[in-house]
Amino acid sequence: MTNQHPLIEALSSVQDPELGKSIVELGMVKNLSRSADGEVRFTLALTTPACPLHSHMADAARAALLAVDGVRAVDIEFGLLSPEEIKSITRRADVRLPQLKQFNQVGQVILVMSGKGGVGKSSIAALLAASLSRQGAKTGLLDADITGPSIPKLFGLPPGGLRGGELGMLPAVTPGGVRVVSTNLLLKEADLPTVWRGPLIAATIRQFWGDTIWGKLDTLIVDLPPGTSDAAIAVLNYLPVSGAVVVTTPQELAGLVVRKALKLLQNKEVPLLALVENMSYFTDSQGAKIEVFGPSHLDDLADLTGSAPRIQIPILPALSQAADAGAVETIHLPEIDRIAALLRSTPSPNP
Ligand code: ADP
Repeated sequence: MTNQHPLIEALSSVQDPELGKSIVELGMVKNLSRSADGEVRFTLALTTPACPLHSHMADAARAALLAVDGVRAVDIEFGLLSPEEIKSITRRADVRLPQLKQFNQVGQVILVMSGKGGVGKSSIAALLAASLSRQGAKTGLLDADITGPSIPKLFGLPPGGLRGGELGMLPAVTPGGVRVVSTNLLLKEADLPTVWRGPLIAATIRQFWGDTIWGKLDTLIVDLPPGTSDAAIAVLNYLPVSGAVVVTTPQELAGLVVRKALKLLQNKEVPLLALVENMSYFTDSQGAKIEVFGPSHLDDLADLTGSAPRIQIPILPALSQAADAGAVETIHLPEIDRIAALLRSTPSPNP
């Protein structure tokens, strides 16, 4: 094989405009080869399949290679960086993030997860964001539950409410000051396609993170899809997550699937900040606690929750009524304020 140095040198002059670094330094050049008759081939591994800059980078690479002595033709194939590679790039302190990302400053990213749907994950995410905002924290809420986005409805935000600027998308703002991004705000139609493939969901979430003008935020709450799907894993791999709040209900089944979510966090080394048992009990008119869904399973999960507080939230008809009326911010719960205060005292990796 011929010496590759001049090729590497040529490709080093090509930058990923989003990250402001050479494609060689970012590890985006793979399988580089040069045939005896002067044909150069390589794979350009992108950060996202939807990368709008891929042809720009390929053109620049082609031009740079053709300027090298003896190079007659260039054949570029597109590929994808692995989640690990993307993670190591986004963690690099010297990577100059694009214009928008310079403008955005997100102190901490907190995930709200659940083992399965219908346990109140979105309600808790919304209440938490509202409580943080009330406590004076600049708060964003990214609705990553792409196939069942309920966040806008909880806050009474109308569909199609996102505006685009030159720099990126402007979030909708709730009456309580929470900046919200969701597919339901993007699409005018209330009904979304029922089948979204995993990679598309992951790419949408990445765009919500990267293409939104969040501005300066103390906390970004991310309402994840239920379960431990590819989309949930994509968020864990892609976003600089500080910690997670896991929501469950007392039903045995929810308890079993929630173990998987807790294990995923452990594997990804994401700190569990609180385990919430929602709809834990109902207090009747005499003040008696009734365990409508059976006894609590919180203690059974102690092996996976470590020192994270385990917080019970009762069944509150006023909450579901306010949620249905788009007035979730009118509900103030001491348990949620406690979690919010806890998040505020969690050290931010990106102050
Ligand atoms: P998920 O995001 O887990 O699918 P949601 O937040 O959409 O769940 O909640 C499911 C339903 O349960 C909604 O109708 C919501 O208003 C209701 N709900 C959630 N938490 C409570 C609660 N603590 N008390 C009463 N209703 C609740």
